[in-house]
Order: sequence, then C-alpha cells, then structure tokens
Amino acid sequence: MTSNFLNESQAMWLDTVNRFMDNEITVEYVRKCDMAREYPYEAYEKIAREGWLGILIPEEDGGAGGDIFDYSLMAEGLGKYGFDFACSVLVPTFTAMNIIKFGTDEQKRKYVKPFIEGKIRFSVSISEPDAGSDAATTKTRARRDANGDWIVSGQKLWCSGAAAKNTTIAMLVRTNAEDKHGGLSVLLIPNDTPGLVINKLPTLSRHATGTTEIFLDEVRVPGDAMLGKEGLGWKIITEHLELERCSVAAAYVGNAQQAVTAAVRYAHERIQFKQPIWDFQVIRHMLADCQTQVDAARLLAYRAAQMAAAHVPCSREGSMAKLYGSETLKTCAMTGMQVLGGYANLPEADMERYLRESVQSTIGGGTSQIQKTIIAKSMRLGG
Ligand SMILES: Cc1cc2nc3c(=O)[nH]c(=O)nc-3n(C[C@H](O)[C@H](O)[C@H](O)COP(=O)(O)OP(=O)(O)OC[C@H]3O[C@@H](n4cnc5c(N)ncnc54)[C@H](O)[C@@H]3O)c2cc1C
Repeated sequence: MTSNFLNESQAMWLDTVNRFMDNEITVEYVRKCDMAREYPYEAYEKIAREGWLGILIPEEDGGAGGDIFDYSLMAEGLGKYGFDFACSVLVPTFTAMNIIKFGTDEQKRKYVKPFIEGKIRFSVSISEPDAGSDAATTKTRARRDANGDWIVSGQKLWCSGAAAKNTTIAMLVRTNAEDKHGGLSVLLIPNDTPGLVINKLPTLSRHATGTTEIFLDEVRVPGDAMLGKEGLGWKIITEHLELERCSVAAAYVGNAQQAVTAAVRYAHERIQFKQPIWDFQVIRHMLADCQTQVDAARLLAYRAAQMAAAHVPCSREGSMAKLYGSETLKTCAMTGMQVLGGYANLPEADMERYLRESVQSTIGGGTSQIQKTIIAKSMRLGG
C-alpha cells in the first residue's frame, strides 16, 4: 500500500523498487545476509547496475539527477525487508552527497564515477566512545605534518559499513582543540589505509551492513583528503544528518509497512479456536492501530522529503519524520511479534529481524530524545 499522496510517476517508481526487492533481491537473500552477518555485495552490485546509486547525484556529475523525494521513495522500497538492508545502500548514497556538495573537482573525479558504478562505497564515522549524542565532543585528532599530510589518532565507534570492501570513510576529526564546533573537519579515509584497525561488532541489529569500531594510531592520510575546508566539519555533518534523517524515515516506513502486512496475512491464516485469529477483534484493532501509525509516519516522511526536494529548510520536519517513523517501526514490529505468537521467534518469520532493526532505529542518526530536542527548539510561543 502506498498513499494517494503520490502522483503517477512517483507511485510507479515506488512500485518498481518494491517489485525489484521482491523479484531481484528477495526476502530470502536479505534474511540470509542477516543470519550470516554478510554484507549484501551481490545486491549492491545489482542496484549499481540499475543506476540507483547515483539517483541523487546531479546529471553534470554523472548521476541520475533525481531529488530527495525520489530518493526517499527508493529508501521506502529498499527498507521493505529490513532497515539493515536499506542501510547498505543508504549509508553510501547519502554520504556520497557530501562529496558532491563539498568535494574538490579532484575528489569528485576520484570518487563519483567509481561510486555510481558500484566499485567503491562510503561510510560515515561521527560517533566515538565519548561522543554519542554530543557528537561535537569528537576527540580523534588530526594534525598536519611537515609534508602537509594529516596524522590521525583516536578511536571511532559504530561506523556502519566500514568493514565492507572498497569503502572510504568520511570521518569527523578534531583539527583544533580550542573550538568545539569550529575545530572539526571531515577526512576521506579509505578503509585499507595502513594503520587503520577496523573491527566488526557483534551487535543486535545491522548484521549485514555491519557496524564497527575503528582504531587510529598515527595514521597518515594525504593532505588532499580533507572534505571542504578545515573547520567545516560540523556544517558538513549537520547537513549530512538532515539528509540522512529524511531518507531513513522513509526506510522505517517501508519496514514498518511490511511488518503490518505480514502480521495481517498471518492473522488470516492462523486458526485457533476454529477460526482465523483475524476474527478476534482485539487482533484486528491492534493491526488497525499499526496501519494508522504507518500511514501517519509515511505522510510525515513524504512531507519532509517534499520540503527537502524544494530546498525549503526542514530540520524540524526531518526530525519529526525520523522520530515518528522509528517509533512506528518499533510499535509495528513489537505488535507483529505478538500477532505471530511463538512463530515470530524464528528467522524465517522475519519479524524478529524487524524487531531488532527497530530497536536500533530510535538510536542511530540521533536518538528519539535528540529528535525531540531539535523539534522543541523550533517551537516558539504562538508559533
Ligand atoms: C547499529 C548501530 C549503527 C550505527 N551506525 C553509525 C554510523 O554509521 N556512524 C556513526 O557515526 N554512528 C553510528 N551509530 C551511533 C549512533 O549514532 C549513536 O549510538 C547515537 O547517536 C547515540 O549515541 P550513544 O549511543 O553514545 O548514546 P548516548 O548519547 O550516550 O545516549 C544515551 C541515552 O541518553 C539520552 N540522551 C543523551 N543526551 C541527551 C539529551 N541531551 N537529552 C535527552 N536525552 C539524552 C539518549 O537519547 C539515550 O537514550 C550507530 C549505532 C548503532 C547502535
């Protein structure tokens, strides 16, 4: 189900991505990657062949020149069988936009074409052990040596996708200890850079894309690896997070919708007390509540994406979409677990994967509490 909100070509685009997920990727493949904790390389290559990695990249840079609304619809479709799978495409694609927006001509020449072709990917590394919600407390230090190279030392945490092959990490680092926000910069660091130690973590969620800890001990990075100017890191990351929130909100909606659809199907098939459990009003009402919440989350996601596509400031609307989408995914996956009963515990029911992903969704990209803080900041008396 989509919504009447979409025009014909948008509805066709969402339908194309949904059918691609069903026929080309398949739920079985998504489940297998999750269970084996394997990065979905095969799917990533298929998506690259479709040209979808470059959907947001302007035509003059070799991309498809789509807008954030098109991108969000893709995210909704890709999120269908689990947010983790969507992440394997969304993290590289929204991180690539930092290079489009802030990269030098040389950086664009180096990264953009191979990225669109699926030969390289990107991760974003903001978080650290002591810098979570307060991301600007980043301690990982980068200093220039006499040759103009950057020497980087510190520890990053939770960098999703950083262990996948041919990944370049957009890493937030401190270049000035005196200035909390103005002392931050972003370096582009390939994951095979000598001295970089990347460990995949055994997390509850994000099995396939994988999330990592990264240790850097005097790692040498070329002087031209800085994205934008020195001190521009906080601006880059703030803009990055706004795009991230719009797109992940749509992926949560796709995943939440699938949780509800699967639960409705099961409720019709499962017979207890000589009747489908759907015939118990209590079950129908649980699922009606979920569908209402999914529709509301979808409208919030579409509103944020529409504003972003029109270049209207939408930090508040992006946070609302992210907040409500993630909380909706959590509610729907939890309800799905209840409706599917004991069966829900098995991987082949897929619901336990949706539940695991939902637990992370209210944390990553800024927690629900941080989204509320952003929303509250925009609220004025009488406004
Ligand atoms: C699977 C996974 C993948 C991730 N992927 C990435 C990635 O690719 N790149 C990356 O950089 N990071 C990534 N993260 C990190 C994620 O962005 C952080 O976990 C998140 O920002 C929260 O930081 P924290 O975990 O340190 O929690 P903390 O900031 O320590 O928060 C702990 C609790 O305190 C609350 N809290 C904190 N500050 C406030 C406040 N001011 N007001 C009210 N409540 C507050 C929080 O809401 C939360 O409930 C990932 C995390 C996970 C688990």
